[in-house]
Amino acid sequence: MTPDGKGEANLGQNYDPEARRDTPLALKLKARIQRDGPITVAEYMAACLTDPEHGYYVHRPAIGAAGDFITAPEISQVFGEVIGLSAAVVWQQMRCPAEFRVVELGPGRGTLIADALRASRIVPGFREAVRVVLVETSETLTRVQQLALAGAGVPVRWVAAAGDVRADLPTIVIGNEFIDALPVAQFELGVDGWCERCIGLDAGGRIIFAAPHPLPGGTLPWNAIYPGAKPGMIVERRRQFIADAFAGSERFAAVFLDYGHPQSLAGDTLQAVRNHHYEHPLTSPGEADLSTQVDFAAVAREAKSVGLSTDGPVTQAEFLGSLGIMERASRLMAKNPAKAGAIEMGVARLMSPNGMGSRFKAIGLRSPQLPPLPGFPVVDK
Ligand code: SAH
Repeated sequence: MTPDGKGEANLGQNYDPEARRDTPLALKLKARIQRDGPITVAEYMAACLTDPEHGYYVHRPAIGAAGDFITAPEISQVFGEVIGLSAAVVWQQMRCPAEFRVVELGPGRGTLIADALRASRIVPGFREAVRVVLVETSETLTRVQQLALAGAGVPVRWVAAAGDVRADLPTIVIGNEFIDALPVAQFELGVDGWCERCIGLDAGGRIIFAAPHPLPGGTLPWNAIYPGAKPGMIVERRRQFIADAFAGSERFAAVFLDYGHPQSLAGDTLQAVRNHHYEHPLTSPGEADLSTQVDFAAVAREAKSVGLSTDGPVTQAEFLGSLGIMERASRLMAKNPAKAGAIEMGVARLMSPNGMGSRFKAIGLRSPQLPPLPGFPVVDK
């Protein structure tokens, strides 16, 4: 079965940490390393996912039964529908601005946003006011999204990077399985301080994790975040992705769903999924999906550092449950008895306590002027 999200491929029988394939990107990276020396893990991840010639997301369909993993919106239409309805509630909490933006980061096949827009038709005024912006790096997926939204009947625009979104309108951001694809830097604590983990070549020219580069000064302010850090410990840090531009906005809200953990944990979580199986992250550069677990505490710290309030994180099951996914699914089943079994199975997969329901978490970010976002408990942090 296609894995539920990137976090759930079955560990293949043939997982081989020594396997290296000479993919076109592997050859390109080897030439680069021979010329310029080792590259950082963040540079490796960025090349594997978004190299303009050979990046994983640049030419591949990636998501769905024909891809390497399947995501929540592809499992059940109810996922996008309840998120669309919750966006309409936030728009109302923003006092129904006549023009506002819904931005989706990494929209995949465009299924979530298409379902969200369809469901929100019942909210008077929402569709007239909404301007959709899709942030997508992949040309292949952009074309799929254009088809998915062809009949949406609202203005849609595409941009290549989150930094291209302006803060001149009230804005609601949605990102499902987006943050995990943003490159992380890995740092390792050596006897003399923190070093950045790098990727180089061994004597035989194979791509390997190389001796880490010492950081100037040797220290980073993480001793407070990871008390008791010992030599050999690896920590991951993602580049800031929430635009500073939104810091001062009075009407900004964002919801991110992803697999990860609520506290900052040490450890190397870089993983590769190809053909529905895990493989070593250095095996197939550009031909496997690379991702890392999301550190939700770090996302919250970043949001707070730009003056935003945060809600959650809560598990995906709690979030979807409190948005009323069960009620919505029951109504859909009553209307489509022939599809009731499939609808029930899809929702069970999203809510599963041993699967996506608990491994995936949701976090909300918002201007402090707004009330807690729908789907999150009302505890102001
Ligand atoms: N949200 C979708 C797809 C998740 S896969 C779903 O739930 O089905 C990750 C998505 O992010 C893909 O659309 C990929 O092309 C896009 N992406 C990955 N890195 C990106 C980047 N740096 N900038 C913009 N989009 C990116």
